Amino acid sequence: MLSLDIAPRGRPLRLLCVGAHCDDLEIGCGGTVLDWLARYPGAEVTWAVMSASGTRAVEARRSAAAFLRRAASRAVALHDFPDGHFPARFSELKAAFAALARAGSPDVVLTHRLEDRHQDHRLVAELAWQTFRDHLILEFEIPKYEGDLGNPNLYVPLTPSAARRKVANLMRLFPTQRSKDWFRPETFEATMHLRGLECRAPSGFAEAFQARKLVFGGGG
Ligand SMILES: [Zn+2]
Repeated sequence: MLSLDIAPRGRPLRLLCVGAHCDDLEIGCGGTVLDWLARYPGAEVTWAVMSASGTRAVEARRSAAAFLRRAASRAVALHDFPDGHFPARFSELKAAFAALARAGSPDVVLTHRLEDRHQDHRLVAELAWQTFRDHLILEFEIPKYEGDLGNPNLYVPLTPSAARRKVANLMRLFPTQRSKDWFRPETFEATMHLRGLECRAPSGFAEAFQARKLVFGGGG
């Protein structure tokens, strides 16, 4: 299997991660972020969560600090759009995305899948595609009751350390979620195991994404 490297030449990797709710980014791409920050020193990360208020904002901030510990620079943007009601706040969300675009041009945008069954997730994915028109967007997956996992086409094999730390951080840093029956180490490990076997990850663990559009070569 040809392995592709996302690092730009001659300058640090710029990464934008946009999640709807607290813990979405960690569940969807936490292992990938940990792995890339170890692999690409100097990376600059913008980490945006659209619904984070009160206790959940405290959790989101602590978690961002843990996941982005190795980033050369990190900007954390927390908004307080109401959970479950993003479509009713479309214009303000679009403005929040425009502000992210004005703040800089990322090499990679990590965000939700367009096919996600959660309306907030789906709208965030749509706004990412509306806003970032000349960028690599990779869409992560969130296991959920609706059972909307698809057939990803891009895999990031994780080191054992990245996979382990992802799960440990999730369980440690989101105490408000522990009462939910699905918020268990087994959920996160199982998803990474499944994607790990699909891409023959040496560690057995991987995260997977929908890479809807890839452009090869500069054409110049
Ligand atoms: Zn969510």
